[in-house]
Amino acid sequence: MSKVIVLYDGYSKIDGNDEMIANCTCTLITGLHNIIVDTMTAWDSEKVLVALQKHNLVPDDIHYVISTHGHSDHIGNNNLFLKAKHIVGFSISHKDKYFMFPFDKGEEYIINNTVKVIPTPGHTLCDVTVLVTSTSKEQIAITGDLFEKYEDIEDSNIWLEAGSENQSQQFRNRSKIADIADWIIPGHGPIFKISKESRQTLQNQFHENLLRINSI
Ligand SMILES: [Zn+2]
Repeated sequence: MSKVIVLYDGYSKIDGNDEMIANCTCTLITGLHNIIVDTMTAWDSEKVLVALQKHNLVPDDIHYVISTHGHSDHIGNNNLFLKAKHIVGFSISHKDKYFMFPFDKGEEYIINNTVKVIPTPGHTLCDVTVLVTSTSKEQIAITGDLFEKYEDIEDSNIWLEAGSENQSQQFRNRSKIADIADWIIPGHGPIFKISKESRQTLQNQFHENLLRINSI
């Protein structure tokens, strides 16, 4: 059984005309494997170490580092974890060895019977989501920037303005993950529960976007 602990809530806000203040949500999964998801910026190593220590862990106890995508605020401290296998978007490696895996064909990477990594491109073309079955049997999706924050369900501009390399895929994957998850840990905001209404909203947005594309 796996336990999901949010070490730091991510945030993002516009600061002036062409600046943004942001850091990602950093999440720890414990259980059969210890896994850290998104390691914040390179200036946050002390914060990461302190948070791990609170859970009686040191970097060498971590088996997997997963960066939901390769942006600088999601990979900053990956090099603290030298015993771990590193998954950065679609790329899986340990030291100079790379493991080929068909994320691009939609395949899911199984870490153990309660944790898997699902390809969810959109924000970048190589984004992944970590799906965890919790001790209470709920599905928790750690989505990176597939979801920026809870508010972006009502206001798509929030995730669109945060950058989307493929909007259609992002619309589709947002709806797909909402359908299978009970909880979402977004890239730049606190954890939230997915309601039936939210699932419906996301499905409608996906279909409206398809119609829009097809009518062009
Ligand atoms: Zn981000």
